[in-house]
Amino acid sequence: MSPSDVRPTTLGELRAAESAGRLHRRTVKDEIRENLIARLRDKAPIFPGIIGYDETVVPQIVNAILSRHNFILLGLRGQAKSRILRAMTTLLDEAIPVVPGCEIHDDPLAPLCAACRARVRAEGDALPIAWLGRDARYVEKLATPDVTIADMIGDLDPIKAARSGLHLSDEMTMHYGLLPRANRGIFAINELPDLAGKIQVGLFNILQEGDVQIKGYPVRLPLDVLMVFSANPEDYTARGKIITPLKDRIGSEIRTHYPASRHHAMAITKQEAWTARHATGATGAIDVPEFVREVVEEVAFQARQDSKVDKRSGVSQRLPISLLENVVSNAERRAMLAGEPLVVPRITDIYAALPAITGKFELEYEGELRGADHVARDIIRSAVGNVFTGYFAGADLRQVTEWFDLGGTLQIDDTLDAAELLTRAAQVQGLRDLAEQLGIKADTPAPLAASAVDFVLEGLYAQKKIARSDEWQYQATEQPRRPARPAPDAMERDLPMPGSKKKYYN
Ligand SMILES: [Zn+2]
Repeated sequence: MSPSDVRPTTLGELRAAESAGRLHRRTVKDEIRENLIARLRDKAPIFPGIIGYDETVVPQIVNAILSRHNFILLGLRGQAKSRILRAMTTLLDEAIPVVPGCEIHDDPLAPLCAACRARVRAEGDALPIAWLGRDARYVEKLATPDVTIADMIGDLDPIKAARSGLHLSDEMTMHYGLLPRANRGIFAINELPDLAGKIQVGLFNILQEGDVQIKGYPVRLPLDVLMVFSANPEDYTARGKIITPLKDRIGSEIRTHYPASRHHAMAITKQEAWTARHATGATGAIDVPEFVREVVEEVAFQARQDSKVDKRSGVSQRLPISLLENVVSNAERRAMLAGEPLVVPRITDIYAALPAITGKFELEYEGELRGADHVARDIIRSAVGNVFTGYFAGADLRQVTEWFDLGGTLQIDDTLDAAELLTRAAQVQGLRDLAEQLGIKADTPAPLAASAVDFVLEGLYAQKKIARSDEWQYQATEQPRRPARPAPDAMERDLPMPGSKKKYYN
C-alpha cells in the first residue's frame, strides 16, 4: 500500500483493495527486492550512515537482495554488521496488514495459524485489520550455546493441548519462539556459529521445508522470513561449526572489513562519537584539531597491525569512537579546572584516555607479558609518529632538538592550562615556528595553540628525537645504552659512556 491510500480497517475492505489492485501482496524477499529497486532507480543512498562500504560490501548486499538470498555478513567485531542488518528494515514497506493480536503477524488474507483461520471463518469480512510498522518486523537474536529450540522456534504446550482436546502437534498448542514471531519480517541471528547443531538443523528445516520437529512432533510452519546472519569469519569457516545443509541455504556470504582509509575511519568516528557536548551548556565550545582526530584513528590502525594484538578478535571501530570521547572528556576536565572557555583536546589527552583503549583489544601472549597499558602506550606513540610524519615530513626540526640537546628541559603534562603551557614552551627556540606550520597564528586562541605545541613535542618524542620522562618532562634523548657489540663481561659493571654527561647502567 502506498501511504497516500486509505488503509483498510476490515477484512472486507482489504479484500476489496486487493481485487481493485490497490494492495500488492508479496513475500518479504520480494517486498525488500522491489523497494530496493525503487531506491536504486531513484539513485538514493541504500544504507545512509554506513561509511566506507560503497564499493565493497554494499554492492554485494544489493546483489544478495536482488537474488532473494538469505545472507550472512562475515567480519570481525566493530565492522557495522549489526548496523547493516538493522538497516534492512528501511527496505520494508511502511506498514503491512495483519490479523490483530496474532503473534506471528498473520496475513488476514492467508492466515497460517489455526486461531486466525478460525477468526476469519467466524467474523468474515467484519474481521478488523491492524497495520504493522516496519520496525516491529525485525527480530534479532545473539546466538549463544545455551539458546534452545524453544527460544528460537517454539515449544508445544501439553497442558494447553490436553485442555483444548487438540493433538499435541496442532499448532494451536504451540508457544511461538523468536523465528515465528519474525514471520513476514526479517530475522537476524548474530554469531551464528555459536548456535547448537540441532537448532541449526531446525532453522534449516524451516528454510527448506517449512516445517520443523518439536519434541519429536512434526509442526508445519511455512514462514515468510528473510533470514540474515552475522559471524566471525574464522568461526564460520571452522569445520563443524555450521552444519553443511544450513550453510548451503545461505545464498550469499559477504565479507565486511575495517575502514580502508584513515579518511573513511575519521568520517565514521566523527559520525558516531559524542563530541557535540557544548549544547548541554555545561562546558565551553569544543574544537577538536584535525591532527588529534587523525592520531585517534591511527591508534586503531596501528593496533590492528600490531603483532602483540590478537588479529582473530580484531580491533573494533568502537575503539577510536570511545577513545575520541574520552580524549574530549580529558580536555573538558582540564578546561574546567583552568576556567578556559574553549575545550581543545591535545595529543597528550590520548595517553590519558588509556581506559578507552585497553579493553578494546585482546592481547597475544607477548602482549600479555608486556601488559595492556604498556602495549597501548606503544601503539599511541607509533600512531603519533605516523601522523606527525604526514604533517612535518621535510620540516627542519633541528632547532628544537638542539635546544634539548644543549640541556634544555620542559615540564608539561595534560593537566597544564593553555596559557602556562605556551609560556613554558616559549623558551624553546623554534618550537612556536613548527606549531605555526599547523596553522597557528598570533591571534589563535591559547588552547588551540597549546594543542599544536603539544603535538610538535609529542611528535618529536614519538620519533625519538627527544625524550620524555615518566614525570612528563621533555628532555634530550639519551645516548645509546651500550656499545653496538658489548663485551659479555662488560655487561655486569657500570659503563661510563664517553662523551656523555650521565652514567648508564645495565
Ligand atoms: Zn495467526
